[in-house]
Amino acid sequence: MADCIFCKIANHEIESRIVYESEDVVAFQDANPQAPVHLLIIPRKHLESVQDLGAEDADLALRLLQTAARLAREQGIAERGFRLVANAGAEAGQSVPHLHFHLLGGRAMSWPPG
Ligand code: AMP
Repeated sequence: MADCIFCKIANHEIESRIVYESEDVVAFQDANPQAPVHLLIIPRKHLESVQDLGAEDADLALRLLQTAARLAREQGIAERGFRLVANAGAEAGQSVPHLHFHLLGGRAMSWPPG
């Protein structure tokens, strides 16, 4: 999608710190990290949020989650624990309308979230 910042990151049109990419998934460092480890995991396909995932995206959804789990292991936060968050919509605080999972870890976290 032409005006989408995360599509531009996935296409290498703007600078970012990409840590992983495949045919359909990209992961990069969040520009405003909220934890020692804060990665964003996105599909190359432009979907606005989890609400847009259809049956045809089942494999993609699995790969997004498997990528998150693998990156958590690689980043050394899998054993201590980590958080995987997908904000959807205004009240959840979604600010970029391209589906993304935040992978957060490296510090203790509280619940409920703010
Ligand atoms: P959300 O508020 O859930 O939509 O999350 C959007 C996230 O994208 C925020 O944590 C931002 O810090 C992050 N972000 C926005 N623009 C960029 C960018 N150009 N590169 C990396 N992270 C970004």
